[in-house]
Amino acid sequence: MMQDGRYLYLFLLGKPASGKGTQIRRVLETFEGTSFSTGDALKDHIARGTELGKRVKSLIESGALVSDDIVMALFKDSAQRLVPVKGRALFLVDGFPRTIGQYEMVRTYLCEQDASYSFVYFSIDDEVILRRFAGRLVCDACFSPFSTLSSSLKEKDTCPLCKKGALIRRADDNEAVVRNRLAEYRRSTAPMVTHIADTEKGYFAEVDGACSVDETFTEVRSLLEKQRIALKQ
Ligand SMILES: [Zn+2]
Repeated sequence: MMQDGRYLYLFLLGKPASGKGTQIRRVLETFEGTSFSTGDALKDHIARGTELGKRVKSLIESGALVSDDIVMALFKDSAQRLVPVKGRALFLVDGFPRTIGQYEMVRTYLCEQDASYSFVYFSIDDEVILRRFAGRLVCDACFSPFSTLSSSLKEKDTCPLCKKGALIRRADDNEAVVRNRLAEYRRSTAPMVTHIADTEKGYFAEVDGACSVDETFTEVRSLLEKQRIALKQ
């Protein structure tokens, strides 16, 4: 693996609501870069009506799962559109790969590309995740996320950002749904994280997902500074 390639892929791994998305937003405020998440890529391809989007749409409509091949195709499609800034391109990948099979595919692809990569794992207890979901609100107009844990906001309040929408709880934030997602994580993703930690020594870092956003960002930032990622002007 080349550590000074033009491309740095930073994979953020961890349970749902372990803080990956928040850190990605923070990183992109500071550094030049692009982010990828499977969910966003799926929506984007469906909206643009690409070949991939059409395949995914019919799969979802028939109730079938999106296969590893399709997820990998979405990932490659975004990766191939990366444009380096000052000779470097940072690609932040949210919650992918999710299984050992996907990890093997990603690794093969990155070796072919001669790209640098690192994995950052957000470790956190299920109890903290369940509390976060219980406190999660979203604006029904601008979709900004809020938390009752770190503010005095409550359900049905007017959105403090757009001042138009109301703060609501998302239907899939309820405890049964979150517990299912955590069980799925334990079944397929946790073994992959252990496998990557064993295989990618030196390219695997663990951060405490229960720390404050600022504390975690300090760790992520120092990791990126070592990689000479261009700062935003
Ligand atoms: Zn809003």
